Amino acid sequence: MSLVRLWSSRLDAPNPMYEEPEVAMIERNYLFPGVIEMNYQASRRMGVNVYLIDGGTEYALIDIGFLDELTAVLELIRQMDFSLSACKLIVATHADVDHAQGLARAREILKCPVVAHPRSVQALEQGDEILTYARIDAQGIQIPMPRCKVDRTIDEGDRLQVGNLTLEVWSTPGHTAGQLAFRMGNMLFSGDNIFRDGCVGVIDAHHGSNLVDFIVSLKRIRACDVDFLLPSHGPIFRKDDALLDATIARLESYTHMADFGTCAVDWPLLDQWEDELAQGTTDF
Ligand SMILES: [Zn+2]
Repeated sequence: MSLVRLWSSRLDAPNPMYEEPEVAMIERNYLFPGVIEMNYQASRRMGVNVYLIDGGTEYALIDIGFLDELTAVLELIRQMDFSLSACKLIVATHADVDHAQGLARAREILKCPVVAHPRSVQALEQGDEILTYARIDAQGIQIPMPRCKVDRTIDEGDRLQVGNLTLEVWSTPGHTAGQLAFRMGNMLFSGDNIFRDGCVGVIDAHHGSNLVDFIVSLKRIRACDVDFLLPSHGPIFRKDDALLDATIARLESYTHMADFGTCAVDWPLLDQWEDELAQGTTDF
């Protein structure tokens, strides 16, 4: 029986004879006041960034990652001397499998609500393999995506109170329609909007990417006055306006290019060619 099973069954049916398993305590590694991230905490790459927002009396988790690492994530939480029962909620920044595969199991074990944007609900509750990017037939990729109940939806302008901390909910569609970001003071938990090297979350029509929306979301991040971006993948980094400008320009170019197929707005080359064909000009 795994530790996760032990914790789960213990919560289901407290047993007075049950002895708390020995947990080797570790120091909490706060990146910022109230902010812990599991890859940093573990000093190894575990997968998607899982942020623990420590509000003192309770905490919240932003994303949970793959099922494979869930036991390790929960063990870290206990080793840092957080009670599993003090988890107030788990937020799904969006419904991609690498962020949300462990969500259903985590919800059972932690017995806390899962919250997500309304446009992530269908993908999460149906375990939709295409929308969650769990299945890419052409590449032979198929990963299980357990269905997860979304207990509450959150959207632009909502505020999540976690003990003495408050997360402002931002709707930042583009990578997916339901992608959320969260502002807390001078930090933005920025999801898959932009990473430290200027890459963005995958652009793919099948899971609802929209280049025009993506650019609006990036411009909003560019215009805001936060100091730090805490993305869902890779290192946290200082907000860099030049990097954002370059990324916005790149995505704007994609709206007029064939590179991302039906995500583009138009393809001027074909209009130009149409004129050339009509005029009988051969310009080569
Ligand atoms: Zn992602």
